[in-house]
Amino acid sequence: MTGRLVIAGLGPGADALVTPEVSAALAEATDVIGYTPYVARVAERPGLVRHPSGNRVEMDRSQHALALAAEGRRVVVVSSGDPGVFAMAAAVFEAVEAGPDHWRALDIRVLPGITAMLAAAARAGAPLGHDFCAINLSDNLKPRALVEKRLRLAVEADFAMAFYNPRSASRPEGFERTLSLLSGLCRDDRPVIFARAVSTPDEEIRVVPLSRCRADMADMRTVVIVGSSATRIIERDGPPIVYTPRSAPA
Ligand code: SAH
Repeated sequence: MTGRLVIAGLGPGADALVTPEVSAALAEATDVIGYTPYVARVAERPGLVRHPSGNRVEMDRSQHALALAAEGRRVVVVSSGDPGVFAMAAAVFEAVEAGPDHWRALDIRVLPGITAMLAAAARAGAPLGHDFCAINLSDNLKPRALVEKRLRLAVEADFAMAFYNPRSASRPEGFERTLSLLSGLCRDDRPVIFARAVSTPDEEIRVVPLSRCRADMADMRTVVIVGSSATRIIERDGPPIVYTPRSAPA
């Protein structure tokens, strides 16, 4: 039997946001591999082996998945959101590139998912309606100075920005520095969306002007969207609508 490796995105949390393509791959899998809370989202069933692991062991997990696929198993590596966005797909390909030649002959497919930024943007309105960028604020895999350079240039380019991994428990001061850097570069009333645990029972969406943002409004389950200079708020009864018009003036 030829093995195969699928790298799948489970979306932001709700079952309704898992694509049918991902559900079909999970239904055929012999093995599911991933960070423990994501593997827990895949129901147990006879014939399925679940392999949960910690969140800092992406390379071990990738090698394990590739080795199982090479033995002929049908392996699904799961990520939250989209597997290509700050997640397992790139880790698996790093392992393929550094690994034995026969891993390159495996049937490897990446199945997209709804990434946190898009789920959050949809809740708030259309803050990413014009040009935008996504930045992983974690400095696990890159120097903090590079994070700050990208922030400054993204503000200069006037992108709306989505921040993943805004605040880690081990280094909470990083997000405080991000907020003070933005305050020095943007107007006080720049809209900021804190979207926590989108599409789960713990979901919380807050829209706050930059001047009133505090670092503790974000945690590791929050994606933060900062509007561009053109992002607007439509006030109404109930939650405001945040959107960025499609065009920029000439
Ligand atoms: N591959 C994932 C991102 C992994 S990085 C994706 O495409 O969404 C982990 C970060 O994603 C978290 O720190 C948080 O910033 C964001 N995130 C993931 N799920 C989320 C959710 N349901 N609500 C808000 N943010 C989420």
